[in-house]
Amino acid sequence: MAYVAMARKWRPKSFDDLVGQEHIARTITNAIESGRLHHAFLFTGTRGVGKTTSARILARTLNCTGEGKRPCGKCRACLEVDDGSSLDVIEMDGASNSGVDDVRAVIEQVKYAPMNRKYRVIVIDEVHMLTKNAFNALLKTLEEPPPHIIFIMATTEVNKVPQTILSRVLRFDFRRISPENVAARLKHICGQENIPADDDALRAIAEKADGSMRDALTYFDQVYAFRGDGTIDLESVHEALGIPPEELFSELAKSIAAHDAKGCVETVVRFHRKGIEIPDFLEGLLRHLRNLLLASIGDMPAEEIGVSPEALRELREQAVPFTTGDLLRLARIALDLRQEVRWSADPRVTVEIGLLRMAHLASTRSIRKLLEAQTEKKN
Ligand SMILES: [Zn+2]
Repeated sequence: MAYVAMARKWRPKSFDDLVGQEHIARTITNAIESGRLHHAFLFTGTRGVGKTTSARILARTLNCTGEGKRPCGKCRACLEVDDGSSLDVIEMDGASNSGVDDVRAVIEQVKYAPMNRKYRVIVIDEVHMLTKNAFNALLKTLEEPPPHIIFIMATTEVNKVPQTILSRVLRFDFRRISPENVAARLKHICGQENIPADDDALRAIAEKADGSMRDALTYFDQVYAFRGDGTIDLESVHEALGIPPEELFSELAKSIAAHDAKGCVETVVRFHRKGIEIPDFLEGLLRHLRNLLLASIGDMPAEEIGVSPEALRELREQAVPFTTGDLLRLARIALDLRQEVRWSADPRVTVEIGLLRMAHLASTRSIRKLLEAQTEKKN
């Protein structure tokens, strides 16, 4: 059977499938069921968290002619929303159609009630990009909305939406989806698709996706295509997505702790050979230092740090030679490096020098130990 991109196939079709936004799904479902539907919604949140998808689900739910509370996925209204051919759902991209004429044209299109459906839905993506005049045209319709029109506005920058608009919409704030939720969803999909996948591999995809389910599915497709044999493991995730493997950071931390300058530079060479880009390397290094910090300050549970229990044991061991002050100083250097490489003519050299600085950081703990040793001698 031909492989269908997961990003397309597993796009949520009803509010039940919407991962990590249960608070929104429940409120909207209740509103629809009670028949007290607001005529204008504003969906805010970072990219890839389900705003446009929810707008489409709402459109399907409102116009579905099938039985039951959920959109049936089989009637004409459902199918037309799916393939984007529905005349009752108009999607407008505020980024490329930001003018007053664009808004007027869309409103003109939906002026008349739909032939055999209840509602016509206008979805305006990136609504904050609209011009002042476009917002005014929109406002006029929002003030006296025709009963068959539902507006759904989506934005990543709600602070740029005028107050006059905000006061006339029902606002929903979409959350970033936790890596646990993203990984669990991927695992569910793998189960349904009979794709053998390791948990740590799915977790790594979820981490890389950073709260976006859409990105997670795209990455999943990328790894699947990279590997080519229908299985997903951690190594192929690292290679396909250019994620630096954790053990290289562990070795780097050991070299820094041992003030081993040569070892530090050699690690850079190994990252380079693996084809890992410098920004990805620095992100990984920062995350590793953050994990070391959290692992060293008492008894924070593994899941809160976002690592496995085995990884936490390993991190605690690695953190022993460092004081909290050391780790903070190392993190400072890594943060500075992230800025410096942007302007550097030779980012690799910049990184090497940064790592040498790390290796030469005098450890406050070793000085303390030295003092302790001297006091012992005296006694
Ligand atoms: Zn339907």
